Amino acid sequence: AKSSGGSQYRFFSKELNASIQRMVDMEASLRRAFDENEFYVAYQPQIDIESGATIGAEALVRWNSKEYGIVSPADFIPLAEQTGLILKLGQWVLEEACREAKRWERAGRTSLTISVNVSAKQFKQPDFVDIVKGILHSTGLNPAKLCIEITESVVIDKLMFTLKLLDELAAMGIGISIDDFGTGYSSLSLLRQLPISMIKIDKSFVAEMVEERSVRAVVAAMITMTHHLGITVVAEGIESEQQMAWLREMGCDKGQGYYIDKPLSAERMQARLKETPAI
Ligand code: C2E
Ligand code: CA
Ligand code: CA
Ligand code: CA
Repeated sequence: AKSSGGSQYRFFSKELNASIQRMVDMEASLRRAFDENEFYVAYQPQIDIESGATIGAEALVRWNSKEYGIVSPADFIPLAEQTGLILKLGQWVLEEACREAKRWERAGRTSLTISVNVSAKQFKQPDFVDIVKGILHSTGLNPAKLCIEITESVVIDKLMFTLKLLDELAAMGIGISIDDFGTGYSSLSLLRQLPISMIKIDKSFVAEMVEERSVRAVVAAMITMTHHLGITVVAEGIESEQQMAWLREMGCDKGQGYYIDKPLSAERMQARLKETPAI
């Protein structure tokens, strides 16, 4: 195997080198992106499923790169995590999103909330609570209007630490949402132990509802179970009227997805808010 593997190895190594080189290049661009103002935040509207009223939005970061065009956060967030840049970026997104939500409030939409994704690295900074406090203070946003989205894996790792941190955030009035619910090690006891205000049913479930009756049953059970714990349910990735109708019937509280609206620029979001009735 060793003698015949030589050329194969060299080939593999070439490929690997190319992909490492691409990562290194992208990392350099990512670092520059900050100073070049290449990041912006998009806002995906969230609605109350029963009334259809817009109740807020999720902030989703975008990278408009000179070298790579529009890069998906699915591609650059992991890189930003590896390089530690996520701390600076995440803080910027949080501040930008809170500032925008404050604008909505000033425009008379006082009940809207803003959901912001927080990565594991960010969450584990010793001064995370102080950072959040500082941002709420500087933007003047009511803490009750902010919701922080974390994934199950963030919670499970270092549970005691997380519990203390989440308690502090919840005590400030900030909402805590479990993102991509159902894809990790979610457990009932976890939901009971932590001050969770919301779960977001992962879009893979919403997608598979269409084909699979069994997935519809699982989603219905998730909603019932979560409601018993006094937790609000958001479904993400809603793409059709049919999915919306099922979720409505199951009593799902809130929703977001292309069927409702795609992630919008701050300006487009403001325009949408002008067109939709105030709640
Ligand atoms: P996520 O938090 O699960 O966000 C939902 C993703 O689904 C977004 O992708 C959104 O654009 C997309 N989406 C919305 N509606 C639909 C739909 O109807 N169908 C389908 N198939 N997809 C839909 P996006 O914006 O590309 O973000 C990908 C992921 O990157 C996010 O997943 C989140 O984990 C991460 N991310 C985005 N912004 C941030 C951020 O500011 N900080 C951190 N730490 N992560 C972020
Ligand atoms: Ca999210
Ligand atoms: Ca999600
Ligand atoms: Ca996700």
